[in-house]
Amino acid sequence: MNRLPILCYHKVGPAEVEGRFLNVEPTTLRAQIGFLKRRGLGFVLARDLVREWPKRGVCLTFDDAYTSLLEYGVPVLASCGVRASIYAVSGRVGQTSDWDGERARPLMAWDALRALQEQGFEIGNHTVDHFALATLDQPEITGQIRLAHERLSQEGIHSLTVCYPYGSTSPNVERAASEVGYDVGLALGKRLARNGDPALGLPRIVVAYSDVVPKFWYRVFIRPLLREWRQFGATRQQSA
Ligand SMILES: [Zn+2]
Repeated sequence: MNRLPILCYHKVGPAEVEGRFLNVEPTTLRAQIGFLKRRGLGFVLARDLVREWPKRGVCLTFDDAYTSLLEYGVPVLASCGVRASIYAVSGRVGQTSDWDGERARPLMAWDALRALQEQGFEIGNHTVDHFALATLDQPEITGQIRLAHERLSQEGIHSLTVCYPYGSTSPNVERAASEVGYDVGLALGKRLARNGDPALGLPRIVVAYSDVVPKFWYRVFIRPLLREWRQFGATRQQSA
């Protein structure tokens, strides 16, 4: 059973500019990538999972397509020779993450997204309005995914994977993603993805501002295994 860490980032920037909420320092990101490389992990895009599950890989994802990612994060990724999957909210491109209220931050414009796609980054679907999909009714869920897919296509963005805002998913959400034509959907969870997981609901681990390398190592590699062992132990006790 191959396990794959799929990491969920948002903003990248100095705390003086971007704060600590859903942000990592550029130096922290560089150290994390160095750590993952030293472990011999290959960097894959979420869209690669449509075809093939890597033997020893890691997948970096960046939600919401913040301009801070473009300014501070992409230079780090590019200098490390790493590509990532970036999820754009079609109804807010070039605007702000207004769903975060006072903490709203600017989001990349279409030109920037197209340029990143040309550089080998994956640009995926993060819905039209960034609603928690599982709270919507079925036509609204399908509309949020389908209309975002269509808008991205009109703008020259070929989205092959979908990422559910807040990790909010349900059987209805995954059915809608499938109907729109997606094979891979990203949610959240404090565990590594496994190649037997339903591909339309893969768990990602959120990386926090304080995740400098020793803590990052714990969050990505140790804690998920401890949880698995604990769950395994509980299952054995139940069946004994
Ligand atoms: Zn988001």
